[in-house]
Amino acid sequence: MANDDEASIAENRDEDDPGKSQVRASAPRPTRAERKARERAAFFTAHPRCCYCNGERVSEEIDHAPARICFRDKAGPEGFEFPACGECNRAAAASEQVSALHIRMFDHNGENLRKEDLYRLVEGVANNAPEAMPIVPIEAWERDAPPTASITAAAHRHLEVFATKILYAMYYRVTAGQMANHRLRRLVAWAQVGTPAAEDLSRMTEAWFGELRVGERGNVDIGDQFHFRHAYNSAHGYLGFSMSFGRSLLFFCVLGPAKQLATLKTPRSIDRRSRYWKPFRYQPIRELGIALKRRRA
Ligand SMILES: [Zn+2]
Repeated sequence: MANDDEASIAENRDEDDPGKSQVRASAPRPTRAERKARERAAFFTAHPRCCYCNGERVSEEIDHAPARICFRDKAGPEGFEFPACGECNRAAAASEQVSALHIRMFDHNGENLRKEDLYRLVEGVANNAPEAMPIVPIEAWERDAPPTASITAAAHRHLEVFATKILYAMYYRVTAGQMANHRLRRLVAWAQVGTPAAEDLSRMTEAWFGELRVGERGNVDIGDQFHFRHAYNSAHGYLGFSMSFGRSLLFFCVLGPAKQLATLKTPRSIDRRSRYWKPFRYQPIRELGIALKRRRA
């Protein structure tokens, strides 16, 4: 039989070359790099298309949403890896820097703050999105507390892209592989923790969503840096998702058919006319990022 022949040829070869049989005996253990490569390949097999552009492009990168720069030592919650094409990933990069800077600057838990991280983020935003740099009154730096600053209109637009990206990712995860698409509208709102607007958003989340979920990461304690909740109504096809970062920003997001989003009441503290409480049509992350860049030019 062919198989027996092959086996005997292999044995003979080993007898001819004793060194080789030693190598064969100790070879099966894969290196770390090999294991990583195998995991990556398995990931792309399971997730072949980008979840940020409705699968228009193939996935080329394992994307972390929320981005790792939002967390101390870049250690984000586990299980938040999503398939992205290069273009969607690049298009959101500046918005992720702007959001990470705001999240980490506004977090009044000193333990979550690393000076070096903050400097790096300031530098990144100054280079990639200077219009979104927070304006901090100079005397704020003299106080022994994280500075308070107002969020500029430009930063708002970046936060919108940042949260929309995570909303699409969560939709992909919660629906086990469906993607945000042109039949859906998106609504993304946020507020600084501790403000009346944040309390309003929390109350809405409370009324709508299920159990509070804390993002965890294996053996790394990320403390109070990330909490999230979601609720998916499969009959009506909408996802409600809320997340908060430490004691800085709280986000309230919904993705679903226009008819469902029309039933959402505007929270008391949010201006009805505000564009921050308005359902927008679905757009791929790539397009949202490009639109922001164009606005800057
Ligand atoms: Zn994409």
